[in-house]
Amino acid sequence: MLEATGLMVFYENMLALNNVNIRCEENQIVGVFGANSAGKSTLMYTLSGIMEDIKKKEEMAGGERITVVGHIHYKGEDISNLKPSRRAGKGLILCPERRRIFKESSVLENLKIGGYLATPSQARETMDYVFTVFPALMKLKKRVGGFLSGGEQQMLAIGRALMAQPQLLLLDEPLLGLSPLMQAILIRGTKVIRDEKKISILVTEQYARPVLPIVDYAFILENGTAVMEGTRQELLNNPDVRAAYFGV
Ligand code: ATP
Repeated sequence: MLEATGLMVFYENMLALNNVNIRCEENQIVGVFGANSAGKSTLMYTLSGIMEDIKKKEEMAGGERITVVGHIHYKGEDISNLKPSRRAGKGLILCPERRRIFKESSVLENLKIGGYLATPSQARETMDYVFTVFPALMKLKKRVGGFLSGGEQQMLAIGRALMAQPQLLLLDEPLLGLSPLMQAILIRGTKVIRDEKKISILVTEQYARPVLPIVDYAFILENGTAVMEGTRQELLNNPDVRAAYFGV
């Protein structure tokens, strides 16, 4: 479904991704685990194409030079040079880190905005579906995003991404700063979305443990390099990985 090969991203002279190869097959949940600054968000921005926008903004502001090298194949097509909007139109949708919802807009408005790529009937159906996966959002429909708890904001961020009709959802650190209970709700929702809607999911996290039960395959990112990959069991069998990322 998605295969990135030889990805390198430089922020000026700083190498943020170093020859990263990553795959996500159809209907899989794939984890990318790494500490702070390992390059998780850089990877997600590069895959979704947002990095092209960041790069242009930097150039226009006369700021640092960002260089992206490598290839991204999605559903058999080389999308490395496609604009983020074209990638989104093909179902490659990013749910960015720190839940960038519209804080002044209501839950309903946030979801509607997310549905800009959907037909009216898709938008209606998906909105109903979001409330089925995250029933807590239902009674918060009219509340503005900024007044939601962190967990509710994350549900909304995922809901908004679903409204864009993803076939591959890029979930960047969805659990960051949330309570174990909220993490469990979000993890369950993520699995339900894959199982019921057959949406493939690439999810990054700092700590693997809460996500581990639902991933089919995972990569470990260290200082911009994918140092290890494997099935859940393969990674669990590695004592260093267990200690550093699984807390077991
Ligand atoms: P976190 O868990 O803290 O979000 P991350 O794994 O998502 O970390 P990135 O945000 O991708 O890591 O950052 C990778 C490296 O690139 C870091 O050293 C970071 O400081 C650097 N970096 C990220 N964005 C920029 C930028 N716009 N300009 C310069 N350096 C950057």
